[in-house]
Amino acid sequence: MRKPVVMGNWKLNGTKSTVTDLIKAFTGVANANEKVDVAICAPAIFIGMVESLATGSKLQWGSEDVDVHTSGAFTGENSPVMIKEFGSTYAIVGHSERRGYHNESNEVVAAKFKAAQDNGLVPVLCIGESEAEYDAGKTLDVCQAEIKAVIDLCGIEAFKNAIIAYEPIWAIGTGKTATPEIAQNVHAGIRAFLKTFNAEVADGVRILYGGSCNAKTAPELFAQKDIDGGLIGGASLKVADFTAIIEAATANA
Ligand code: PEP
Repeated sequence: MRKPVVMGNWKLNGTKSTVTDLIKAFTGVANANEKVDVAICAPAIFIGMVESLATGSKLQWGSEDVDVHTSGAFTGENSPVMIKEFGSTYAIVGHSERRGYHNESNEVVAAKFKAAQDNGLVPVLCIGESEAEYDAGKTLDVCQAEIKAVIDLCGIEAFKNAIIAYEPIWAIGTGKTATPEIAQNVHAGIRAFLKTFNAEVADGVRILYGGSCNAKTAPELFAQKDIDGGLIGGASLKVADFTAIIEAATANA
């Protein structure tokens, strides 16, 4: 049985005041929903604050990205060692906004995955196709190539301690959630691909759905056999919406 995960990705949002309010609310919600791993991935500058506010609760946290280096002359980057030092559990890698705006290749994302894992963080590997790739029927080809780069560098066993987030780019921030049927088919396809390398790893890895998931769409998405929770952008900045999404995951746990 895979424990569901509901993870917020705050992107470039937040102030000291909103971070305080949101984390105070989400620690309570996480404590009340123990059957689900609840986490917030925050802008790096706020991770220390999140640690202070959430320590002692069931809420977990992490970063939205991570550098491949642990220290040195890499101005502006965030080291996995530093992220871990502030109590983080997770590091998102390969978000489509990083792949798109920062030209991160599958190989760079794989190196970030490795750096995170080597330094005690659980990588959350984001994968997913563009609208044009979806229309061309290339969804699984894209997802498989993104996963294969990690397998080539880290081996299939690395997915014993990692999370995959399937996030169709056309659904992120657009209000166009993938239907439960579309998402389930892709998740099953991803699991089948992993199974060709190692069945045990494929059965155990948690695969989250992300892309305009909200309080209305979460219940049916989370009821699908191969959907193990969600990576949530916009709705993780709203207490009522994120709470409802977590409760939908508890209902399916
Ligand atoms: C995301 O950026 O990971 C995401 C899922 O965003 P949204 O929920 O806003 O579509």
